[in-house]
Amino acid sequence: MPQMDGSQSGASDMSSSATARKLDTIDSRPRFTQDDADALNARFEGVDAQTMLRALFAEDELGEIAVVSSFGTESAVLLHLVAKADPAIPVVFVDTLRMFPETLAYRETLIETFGIKNASVVTPNVDVLAEKDPNELRWSFDPDGCCEIRKVEPLARAKNGLDAWISGRKAFQSITRENIARFEVEDGRLKLNPLGNWIKDDLDAYFEEHDLPRHPLEAEGYLSVGCAPCTSKVAPGEDARAGRWRGWDKTECGIHTPIDGSDDADDANNQPVF
Ligand code: SF4
Repeated sequence: MPQMDGSQSGASDMSSSATARKLDTIDSRPRFTQDDADALNARFEGVDAQTMLRALFAEDELGEIAVVSSFGTESAVLLHLVAKADPAIPVVFVDTLRMFPETLAYRETLIETFGIKNASVVTPNVDVLAEKDPNELRWSFDPDGCCEIRKVEPLARAKNGLDAWISGRKAFQSITRENIARFEVEDGRLKLNPLGNWIKDDLDAYFEEHDLPRHPLEAEGYLSVGCAPCTSKVAPGEDARAGRWRGWDKTECGIHTPIDGSDDADDANNQPVF
């Protein structure tokens, strides 16, 4: 479990000279280990997500924690669970600056409806965009590189200072997301997947039971919504994520699964699969 000290307390404490001296001490110990994740997985096996989150937030043993949400078609479930457990838990949105306007509006709706008290937005570095995506067309010839500068790097920046983050990953979403543990460790940081064992019926039932707002594009056939240039409608019977990066041999943005973030547009991961 994390050893919290001034090294993780964030820039807002910098005005205190005493705290500033603490910040000079770098704690290089891993904050969480796989043993911690294994113990948490065992402890909460069979425990519903709401009960688990309430217990974890009440104990306050996970250090600095935040939810990362794309405000996609299924995001409302996790955000509702978290907000019911503790509406002060920070909610971070990575705005790639290529989002649908409907997603931005949906974010506002959910923040207001759920009473989320601490919502923030992280965006790509403007200098990097000017250098590597000046025409905003990098998605069309190098989607991995585009995701790297618009999603992966900004999220990495947002996670600086966090001991743990909460993801909305679900095992059923596609065959690439099988067997998601509820607790994982990445670079010493705990990653919570409260919905890791949820199936589509669970989500639908939760939406209905709590009368949650739906993403405005879902009714139009967008079952999984990411950036506008890389999202298309899904035909009946298709995997929900089939509309993401359609035509490309790419299924993940790199936030959950590392991708080669090199500038090489000919990388094998970027080959179209027409
Ligand atoms: S999803 Fe598309 S537009 Fe969005 S960051 Fe990735 S490649 Fe770029």
